[in-house]
Amino acid sequence: MAKLIDKFNREITYLRLSVTEHCNYRCFYCRDDEHTPNCKREDVLSYEDIEKIVQLFAELGITKVRLTGGEPLLRTGISKIAKLISRVDGINDVPLSTNAHLLEKFAQKLYQNGVNRANISIDSLIPEKFEEITRGGELSKVIEGIDAAIQAGMSPIKINMVVMRGVNDDEIESMIDFAIDKGIDIRFIETMPIGSSGIEILSQHVSEKDILAKINNHLDSRLMPIESSKTDGPAHNFKIEGTNSTVGIISAVSNHFCQTCNRVRLTAKGELILCLGQEDSISLKDAVRSDLTDDEIKDMIINAINKKPEKHVFDSVIDNISNRQMVEIGG
Ligand code: SAM
Repeated sequence: MAKLIDKFNREITYLRLSVTEHCNYRCFYCRDDEHTPNCKREDVLSYEDIEKIVQLFAELGITKVRLTGGEPLLRTGISKIAKLISRVDGINDVPLSTNAHLLEKFAQKLYQNGVNRANISIDSLIPEKFEEITRGGELSKVIEGIDAAIQAGMSPIKINMVVMRGVNDDEIESMIDFAIDKGIDIRFIETMPIGSSGIEILSQHVSEKDILAKINNHLDSRLMPIESSKTDGPAHNFKIEGTNSTVGIISAVSNHFCQTCNRVRLTAKGELILCLGQEDSISLKDAVRSDLTDDEIKDMIINAINKKPEKHVFDSVIDNISNRQMVEIGG
C-alpha cells in the first residue's frame, strides 16, 4: 500500500471533505456578515468527482474522510455521498461535522450508510445566546439532532464549543455537565484567525491554559489524561472519572501541533488545501475532469503533499493568514 508522506516525515491519512459552502447558520466567528457562497452548481464536486478523488486518496493511504461544510446536511444526496465514500476500499472511518440542525432527519440513514461518528458544534446552551451567535440557529433542533445521533448508534459523539471571552466562556462548566448528562464527549476550541471574522474575534480569544483552569476547577481533579494517538488530531484529551465522557481542548493558537498533522482539506469546489493556516492549494476538480490518468492525478497529489507547509502561522505573521472564510474550508 502506498503512503502519503510529506517532507517533514508526516504521514497523511486523513481527508476533510467539504461537500457544500452553504450553511443554514451564520456563526459570527466563521463567516462575515455579508458572506454568501459564490459557486455555481457545476463548480461543486459531483458525486462522481468525490468518489473518484476519495478512491485515489485511499490508494495513497488515506483511511479517514470527514464530511464537513458549510453545513454538510444541506448537500443534496448527503446520505448517498456517505455511502459512496464508506464503500471505498481502505476507508474505515467516516465522521461527520455538523451543526445538527437537520440531524434528526438524517442520523439513522447516515449511520446505515457508514457515518460512524459525529462532531456537533454548540457554542451556548442558552437559546437566546445560541440564536445570537449562530445568527438565527435553534438550540432545540440541535439537541434533537444530538439525541437522534445517539439513538442511531453514532459513537463517539463530540460537542465542539468555540470559546470566546465575554461571549460564552461562562458556559464551560454547564457545557461539561451537559455532555456528561448525555454520555458524550466535549471539545473546547480556541478561536482561530481564519478569514476576517476569525481575525476579529481574536480579541475574544481564551487560551488553553485558561480553559483548562476552568475545567479543572469544575471537575475537581476528576481529569485523567488520555495518551494521544497519532489519529487523535490536535486535541489534548482527558477522561472524566466516573462518567462516560471525555473532555478535550483544541489549542491551535496556544500550541503548534503541526508536527503531528496528518490531514489535508478538500473544499466543495475541489481545491486541495494543504494547511488550514496557509494559502497553498491545487485544484483536484480540474484534474478529475481532465483527461489525466489516475496515476497522473495521484502524482499531482503526491507533489502537492510534498509542498505541505511545516506549520500554520496563526500567531505570528498576520499578513500570511489565509483570507478564506472557515465556512469555505470546513474547519
Ligand atoms: N457546519 C458544520 C459545523 O457546524 O460543525 C461544519 C463546518 S464548521 C466550519 C466546522 C467547525 O469549525 C465548527 O466546529 C466551528 O465551530 C469551527 N470554526 C469555525 N470558525 C472558527 C474559528 N474562527 N475558530 C475556531 N473554530 C472555528
